[in-house]
Amino acid sequence: MHNKTIAELAKGLRSGEFSSAELTSAFLSRIKQHGSLNSYITVTEDLALQQAEAADARLAKGDAELLTGIPVAQKDIFCTEGVKTSCGSKILDNFIAPYNATVVDKFNSAGAVMLGKLNMDEFAMGSSNETSYYGAVKNPWDTNTVPGGSSGGTAAAVAARLAVCATGTDTGGSIRQPAALCGITGLKPTYGRVSRYGMIAYASSLDQGGPMTRSAEDAAIMLQTMAGFDQKDSTSVDVPVPDYMSGLTNSIEGLKIGLPKEFFGDGLNGDVAAAIEAAINEYRKLGAQVTEISMPTLKLAIPAYYVIAPAECSANLSRFDGVRFGYRCENPADLTDLYTRSRGEGFGKEVKRRILMGTYALSAGYYDAYYIKAQKIRRLISEDFKRALSEVDVIMGPVTPSTAFGIGEKIGNPIEMYLSDIYTIAINLAGLPAMSVPAGFAKGLPVGLQIIGNYFAEDRLLNIAHQYQQVTDWHTHTPKGFE
Ligand code: GLN
Repeated sequence: MHNKTIAELAKGLRSGEFSSAELTSAFLSRIKQHGSLNSYITVTEDLALQQAEAADARLAKGDAELLTGIPVAQKDIFCTEGVKTSCGSKILDNFIAPYNATVVDKFNSAGAVMLGKLNMDEFAMGSSNETSYYGAVKNPWDTNTVPGGSSGGTAAAVAARLAVCATGTDTGGSIRQPAALCGITGLKPTYGRVSRYGMIAYASSLDQGGPMTRSAEDAAIMLQTMAGFDQKDSTSVDVPVPDYMSGLTNSIEGLKIGLPKEFFGDGLNGDVAAAIEAAINEYRKLGAQVTEISMPTLKLAIPAYYVIAPAECSANLSRFDGVRFGYRCENPADLTDLYTRSRGEGFGKEVKRRILMGTYALSAGYYDAYYIKAQKIRRLISEDFKRALSEVDVIMGPVTPSTAFGIGEKIGNPIEMYLSDIYTIAINLAGLPAMSVPAGFAKGLPVGLQIIGNYFAEDRLLNIAHQYQQVTDWHTHTPKGFE
């Protein structure tokens, strides 16, 4: 039962093959059985069983939605009323949110069952899930390797079938990169498509929540619930949400795919490149036309991001001061001591590094040289995408330069870690939607194909991914020991 997709489970729940209570119990026992992956920070067993019972009643009444009774999990960055929301940090280890994120409310109204809160890099800063206060998450494909980050708990849980599907957030690649390294499907929507209300902010102009699932079809179902305008989020965009399911089966004959030559240069692992080329060939067989394009500003994405994201993070994280909520140091001598020790003891090393970089970049005298310059580069990158997407329908390429790397391998070298997102970060700077789709294996580890589309073209991306998943079975593979 745990290997089924949302649509298959929805059918089983309606035909009486199993109840949501049975399904939920099965997932709860799998979570216990595979606790060593460390994918969950909090398991909400009692709440899940209560919600399952309510879902069964709703199913019996016949007013259920597709997600009713389906066991899902939330990245621990989404506030959940009455349930610990840690954001992977010691500073929020004692934080019980007084309200739900809009996304969480939406899952609740759909009647989904919440299994718990998923592990993540501290404040979503990282590419390996190793910066979490709760320890590293293991990649179910090879437990000596990282699942990617920052939504590493989500990717590992969905790949190991410890949740049917789950949420992630993507500031510079945190949905797509872990999805690629764990062999699942991930969608980072257009900036403004999914409400950020109650999603703890890292870099507000880049952060976006989205679905992480087994298949494109499941991602369509999840996004249908997550997307939409929210008055409580001033950056949420008021454009109608299409029916994501109905477009999945459209033909992609004649689709114009652009391959930026900058995505295929030095630094891309040969096995990954081969898997991506094979995926592009499948698209050719499906009737797509493939052309090489050039996007000269892509190489500026990492440096611009590592000015803008830390700058925003230094402002966003100033609220964690030991006064209103979160960790407070013991016996502060005075107010300055309270601030400095609460923050000094509460934040981890990577978060401190980002706060320092951001504060530096924003300080008087350096602001123009770093922050303003980075914003100008951001504009150039957006224009580069705009031009490219007027010539082709979608852009494709790898998600990551290599497959999953070893736990401990890059954590001592921040620059090398930052380069894990070399193919994903530019998309966040431009605010565009993009997907990671399982596209084969290299030496037993999953490879992800990235598909980048125009603003609010999530329906098109899902359609393109779904068509590929009709002719390939990479998305159906399950890691050994988790079948
Ligand atoms: N790895 C990138 C960072 O550390 C992106 C993280 C994210 O998307 N949340 O900032």
